[in-house]
Amino acid sequence: MTKYIFVTGGVLSSLGKGVTAASVGTLLKHSGKNVGMLKIDPYINVDPGTMSPLEHGEVFVTKDGAETDLDIGNYERFLDTSFLKSSNFTTGQVYSSVIERERAGGYLGQTIQVVPHIVGEIVSRIKKAGDGHEILVVELGGTVGDIEGLPFMEAIRQMKHDDDVAGTFFIHVTLIPFIKAAGELKSKPTQHSVQELRRIGITPQMIIARSENALPKAFKKKLAMSCDVSQDSVIEALDASTIYDIPVTFLRQNILKPISKELDLGDLNPDMEEWDTLVKKIVQPKNKTVVGFVGKYLELKEAYKSLTESLIHCGAHLDTRIEINWVDSEEIEERGAQALLGDCDSVLVAGGFGNRGIEGKIKAIEYARVNKVPYLGICLGMQLTLVEYARNVLGLEGANSIEFDENTPHPMVYLIDNFMDQSGNFQLRTHQSPMGGTLRLGEYECNTKEGSILREAYNGEKTIYERHRHRYEANPTYREQLEKAGMIVTGESNGLIETVEIEGHPWFLGVQFHPEFTSRLQTPNPSILAFVKASLNAD
Ligand code: GLN
Repeated sequence: MTKYIFVTGGVLSSLGKGVTAASVGTLLKHSGKNVGMLKIDPYINVDPGTMSPLEHGEVFVTKDGAETDLDIGNYERFLDTSFLKSSNFTTGQVYSSVIERERAGGYLGQTIQVVPHIVGEIVSRIKKAGDGHEILVVELGGTVGDIEGLPFMEAIRQMKHDDDVAGTFFIHVTLIPFIKAAGELKSKPTQHSVQELRRIGITPQMIIARSENALPKAFKKKLAMSCDVSQDSVIEALDASTIYDIPVTFLRQNILKPISKELDLGDLNPDMEEWDTLVKKIVQPKNKTVVGFVGKYLELKEAYKSLTESLIHCGAHLDTRIEINWVDSEEIEERGAQALLGDCDSVLVAGGFGNRGIEGKIKAIEYARVNKVPYLGICLGMQLTLVEYARNVLGLEGANSIEFDENTPHPMVYLIDNFMDQSGNFQLRTHQSPMGGTLRLGEYECNTKEGSILREAYNGEKTIYERHRHRYEANPTYREQLEKAGMIVTGESNGLIETVEIEGHPWFLGVQFHPEFTSRLQTPNPSILAFVKASLNAD
């Protein structure tokens, strides 16, 4: 039977509930526990796959091909574990399955209601995610008091009394504002938020207090009293120099003691030594390199969360500060690549969807190719290397991806009509296909070519596994022509072109997969690590 730790948020959003949940999970995992993680999103979308990255940040992709909330990425990066589809669900999924069952006659004779049917579905999904784990950490999206969060609150309240549940622990993450004029820290918003939770029937057993200023002992005592938790269960969460420092700061405050006491977990002594060494290298690295990061969702950097985190992981392992020089691809169209990328040690073109900024990305690729600057192109950043090569080296005028020009005379990137997905099912991918859930998603194997940058990056591995999220594919019709002219396919998956490199270029790699999804603090992704090394060695 599983024990559950529920993490709710109060006062306002963006308090770092995801990182908090991941940090608690990390400490338990490093104590030798079998920990699962679950994020519940109260929005109606079935998954975030169709949301703009500017709306909701990055869409994270799991190994088994689910498009999930970016917090699942935090969980994987912290716990160094691949979580699956069952680690994230939304209101949309809950209602879809209840309605589907109703239509199939699964509730004949009954009136379907939020209580008990929707709440029951939520409980059963939480339990399913907990299956096989000693502890499941559940993060509830949104803030206490949100209308859409209520069925979830009711579900976790009910789980306190569930015979199939071995124990529950409720953590509430809140904000302690500091009022400058009065020179005072304020506990009132937290008190109100806890009152609201108690009105629903949940009494938090721990308060994690986000604050810009350290909380004096007397203040903690007051907070403990007013929120009805013990004093050692008020944990302070100050702004950290890196999110990876948070588990360590929690541990210093003995966060596991009250959790272990309540859930009967025994003596917990997490081994955080290696972790701590990495954190120190993030905070005070010896070396520095500048990466020109070309993208188009720059208004919300969360859109590139996994990628920026993976650069941090690589930096930690190479004792290097990676300075990101953010470059808007549309600005390259106006000012040219040299002006914007000239000071960078390397160029990274990230993935993306839609027409905007495409020509700027192509210019960035041309700049990196011609000037022999280390280049990593991810997904769209790989597809466009083919377009650039076709136009500027092969002289194929008008070459493009059919995503951007349906009538291009040279479709370097195209749609395969009958694509076989991860589980062996055929997927029809045409312009008429629905937008949701019709991408190539999740982990696929890739065979690497001997002597390639790719194979070297993966320490000589012949077969590697990386995750995908895209609709279009490199067109094999042009392979021979490209290879004759020096653009070599160095990674393949079942006949699909997965990676390309350029002969005579010191470090140029385009990858159709998203290497950033498998990067963790303790095990950075090999292709990104090799790219950062090349960037570091560039003059
Ligand atoms: N838009 C491209 C495709 O769908 C690339 C997607 C991406 O970069 N993730 O294939």
